Amino acid sequence: MTLSQAASLRAKGHRGHINEMSLSFSRAELQRYSRHILLREVGALGQAKLRAARVLIVGAGGLGSPLALYLSAAGIGTLGLVDHDALELSNLQRQVAHTTARIGENKAASAAEALRGLNPEVAVDIHARRMDAAAARDLIPHYDVICDGTDNFETRFLLGDACHLLGKSLVSAAVLRFEGQLSVFHGHDGANPCHRCLHPEPPPPGLVPSCSEAGVLGAVTGVMGTLQATEVLKLILGIGDPLIGKLLLWDALDARFRTVRLKRDPACALCGPEAIIRDLSAHEGAAEPVCRA
Ligand SMILES: [Zn+2]
Repeated sequence: MTLSQAASLRAKGHRGHINEMSLSFSRAELQRYSRHILLREVGALGQAKLRAARVLIVGAGGLGSPLALYLSAAGIGTLGLVDHDALELSNLQRQVAHTTARIGENKAASAAEALRGLNPEVAVDIHARRMDAAAARDLIPHYDVICDGTDNFETRFLLGDACHLLGKSLVSAAVLRFEGQLSVFHGHDGANPCHRCLHPEPPPPGLVPSCSEAGVLGAVTGVMGTLQATEVLKLILGIGDPLIGKLLLWDALDARFRTVRLKRDPACALCGPEAIIRDLSAHEGAAEPVCRA
């Protein structure tokens, strides 16, 4: 298919909001996204799906930086960035959406500036607020896919519970030292494990060190954030085999990836037949996050 043929396509017979979606692209969009449109698995329809999508990124840090940059470059229509922190010098070893000149600025606003420079076609919603239960209720319903780029168990469990209860896919990555992990939780579909099937409760405070205590190789956050972006794009495009019900583990020192299958826990408090978590009330008054990747 040539780019001009792709530009003249109109959506016919596709599911959901794709029915209403325009497949018309400006000349500039065709040039910007030409390497996507050339891919049979993406094409003009896939690029239109990306343009119609809304993705929320929680944490504009080490994971959120490459994640937001690649999703912006890919032409996701609307990106929401949630971060209440101010940029610090110690962030810049890995949080590559920011600049030295923007130290002291809000990180969601700083990252948004980078995204606007990369791709002005993308709408960026800046949410300079803490991701607490109220923010989860306010923000998550307005997005199609939610990404966890934080590094604290309070937010991780809040997002896991909120996405499950609100029926949203959660693309969740974590990093520490030289290792990373990644999974996609889609537990509300009734067949796949939720995040609490994997970890029923957060570990006691202080048991698992944070990045600010144990350190992290900056490039490891770059790889994991980029893998996270790839999973988001696969979900929106409906291509490949997403990491639903699977956990990807990467050891950078051994240069080794492993994928393990996750099982549903029939006694799970969130997705089991006798689930007791029905709302976010357990997350009210959540503790101060300790660190962002
Ligand atoms: Zn579960």
